[in-house]
Amino acid sequence: MPDIDTMAEVAKQGGLIPKKRRKPPRVPRQRIPRTLQARYYSKIYKLLKPARDLVRAKLFPVLPSIATSAGLVPGRADAAAWLDRLDRTMGEVQEAYGRLVTDDDVETMAAELPVMVERWQRAEGNKVFRSLIGIDVFQSTEGLAEVMEVATRENVALIKSISTEYFSEIEKIVMRNVRAGVRAENFASEVEAASRGQWKKGINRAKLIARDQTNKAYGEINRVRQTQMGVTSYIWRTSQDERVRESHLDLEGLSFTWEKGSDEGHPGQPIQCRCTAEPDLSHLGKDFAPEDTGEEYNKRVRTEVKAKLKKAEKGGYLAAWKKAELRKQEKE
Ligand SMILES: [Zn+2]
Repeated sequence: MPDIDTMAEVAKQGGLIPKKRRKPPRVPRQRIPRTLQARYYSKIYKLLKPARDLVRAKLFPVLPSIATSAGLVPGRADAAAWLDRLDRTMGEVQEAYGRLVTDDDVETMAAELPVMVERWQRAEGNKVFRSLIGIDVFQSTEGLAEVMEVATRENVALIKSISTEYFSEIEKIVMRNVRAGVRAENFASEVEAASRGQWKKGINRAKLIARDQTNKAYGEINRVRQTQMGVTSYIWRTSQDERVRESHLDLEGLSFTWEKGSDEGHPGQPIQCRCTAEPDLSHLGKDFAPEDTGEEYNKRVRTEVKAKLKKAEKGGYLAAWKKAELRKQEKE
């Protein structure tokens, strides 16, 4: 791929952009792949659900017998027997899960994420560069093999960790309830309730992973694409909504180098960050410099967004609660 300076020159010579612009370029904001987050989450969920179903089908029915041999029925303690039973059952659960959801299944699914995100980023990136140099610069996945492979592997590890952790926590729940000496007639329902809580935790983690990994992959692909064509700096762009964290709002419209980044890293790197990096081509002259950049612009936006926030807070308790919930999502 030719570098950005050459492409800009070619675009000027070829009349793709005016020799002199009457107005500074208006660069469209990149949309982060929100719909992909949801799609990816539902794929992860499909792989996880058999874990819960197997615990229900294989472990729950033997809980009464574990309770009996654990001595929760007075005078019938047999430590070795209940531990053995639990071990064997959880072994069966995990084996069955491994057959239903193979490593190949997880890898195939995880590999879809960077593919989906790449397509999304290609469209968004092309919109941005079209507004600056009049060309759709991205046509293929050229140069992205490594970043896509890294994203896949990271996702495989994260997804596998959810079921592994779920199974080991379920085992701990059973042991905790035995140690607590829960009465035999309550034993199964206590374990089942705690298991449901554990399942919820796993699901929440899956949601977080889907959100975060999608944004991260987007940021990474964007970074590799820009640096490959010789773009050395970017302008930090936030969503400018009430969910943006203040430390990122402080960066809106400011320029950072790909080499050093901001104190917060690059957009998309901090957990749950929804910010994006817009190529900063201002070194090519003011025809390539949008107006919505710099300290003064940043100050104005900060005031505006904070005013929006205040107004939302005045909306009453419910609005404040909703805002706090949304903020948690961004900060998680
Ligand atoms: Zn952010």
